[in-house]
Amino acid sequence: MTCRHCCSVLDTTGRCPGDAPLLDPKRDGRKYGTAAQLAHHFGTDITTDMVHNWRKRDGLERHRIGRDVYSPVDQTAAIEHAKRRTKETTGRGRSRRLDATLATAA
Ligand SMILES: [Zn+2]
Repeated sequence: MTCRHCCSVLDTTGRCPGDAPLLDPKRDGRKYGTAAQLAHHFGTDITTDMVHNWRKRDGLERHRIGRDVYSPVDQTAAIEHAKRRTKETTGRGRSRRLDATLATAA
């Protein structure tokens, strides 16, 4: 069985590994999740691998809490949004410069 939200493989009790509530460690309203939690929270578009990549390549914050590494939900959303826009406006692998040219022509 896989989770219908994030497609993660469910554990033996039928629970998604990302099903745990998001943390608010500073009690300031900013929510944090593990890669599995973030994938579950954002749905089928986002995988744990993508979250790991964003941590490595896009500066997504890492906060070690207990045994797990958490990242802020708002920053994950911002990176996901930026990636989506880049893909929509430039297609795959196009540069910013070409993007600007296309925008002017349109
Ligand atoms: Zn899930």
